[in-house]
Amino acid sequence: MSQRPIYLDCHATTPMDKRVLEAMLPYFTQHFGNPSSISHIYGWESEAAVKKARETLANAINCRPEEIIFTSGATEANNLSIKGVAEAYYNQGQHIITIQTEHRAVLDPCHYLETLGFEVSFLSVQKDGLIDLDQLEKAIRPETILVSVMAANNEIGVVQPLAEIGKICHDHQVLFHSDAAQAIAKIPLDVQQMNVDLMSLTAHKVYGPKGIGALYVRRRDPRVRLAAQLHGGGQERGLRSGTLYTPQIVGFGKAVELGLEEMESEGKRQSQLRDRLWKQLSQLEGIYLNGHPKKRLPGNLNVSVEKVDGSALLLGLQSVVAVSSGSACSSTVTTPSHVLTALGHQESLAYASLRFGLGRFTTTEQIEQVSQSTISTIQSLRQATVRL
Ligand SMILES: *Cc1c(COP(=O)(O)O)cnc(C)c1O
Repeated sequence: MSQRPIYLDCHATTPMDKRVLEAMLPYFTQHFGNPSSISHIYGWESEAAVKKARETLANAINCRPEEIIFTSGATEANNLSIKGVAEAYYNQGQHIITIQTEHRAVLDPCHYLETLGFEVSFLSVQKDGLIDLDQLEKAIRPETILVSVMAANNEIGVVQPLAEIGKICHDHQVLFHSDAAQAIAKIPLDVQQMNVDLMSLTAHKVYGPKGIGALYVRRRDPRVRLAAQLHGGGQERGLRSGTLYTPQIVGFGKAVELGLEEMESEGKRQSQLRDRLWKQLSQLEGIYLNGHPKKRLPGNLNVSVEKVDGSALLLGLQSVVAVSSGSACSSTVTTPSHVLTALGHQESLAYASLRFGLGRFTTTEQIEQVSQSTISTIQSLRQATVRL
């Protein structure tokens, strides 16, 4: 088999850590019981495993275990929090605030709520991708029920000032939801210190399995009311019915446990590698860093390249490195991503953008190879254009 390209797309998903798989395996065939079965040991041992994972997640964000609701991922957690709050609080108000650079799993539930008569303010961000706190405070009205701002962006890696946002929301008694899919076990999160009322999490961006996530829902000061979106067996305090997926939950817990253990050392290692990659790439002319240079995830580098066609660049790199472009390619047209557009990019500049997502298994040698190949590919594409 020919060598596969180097994987630098860790914001899309991460490979599962073998230690996570090890932890999960017994829960498929041996400890297969339904955690809701209360009358025998099969149920009890699964319930104990779920409890342990719930405690790990709660410790990771400083909440109580009973405030964690397991879901199928961050998409479901975002839908549950946004639609669930909208439905539970619509008598109090029908206005929601979010930002333009959110993941579609936040933007689309908001667009959906607009069709039901809710009003949503999609705030612009500053050039560096960070929210403007004054603008946020001014946007809050008496009828505002929810502010939703992500912890870390999935394209440009920018880390939003959650504690400052939380304080503003708290002062105005508006609920604060944060999509922390990219942030959990990568940067410190503390829902008490940050005044977060709802937080979406997922396992597969931190070397855990796909198809499992969680929503933190505050139960005290204030107690968040939420309308369930899935009805049935009444699991997860009635907020999310459906048999708990024990192996995935165990894997989620293990992944977060490992992520927390290694957060500091890996954060340092990955940001050094990322800075090394940028140092080399920035020797090229007409290459720009997207997003705040410091307030970003350790493993994220997002660049825009002038005078190069975006799809030609990806094509030229695809045998060397698996990366993502900053553009959403449909069958016929390439449009710049909504995140880069929100930073105020002109369309042509946003066309040739690359998102490098480094991770736990990225090595120095890989970064060397990727930077050399990226530089030479850009140079040869530019020369070819000049010759035309
Ligand atoms: C990946 C991601 C999601 C979607 O998470 P799933 O668990 O795949 O549903 C939502 N928000 C952000 C910021 C993400 O990076």
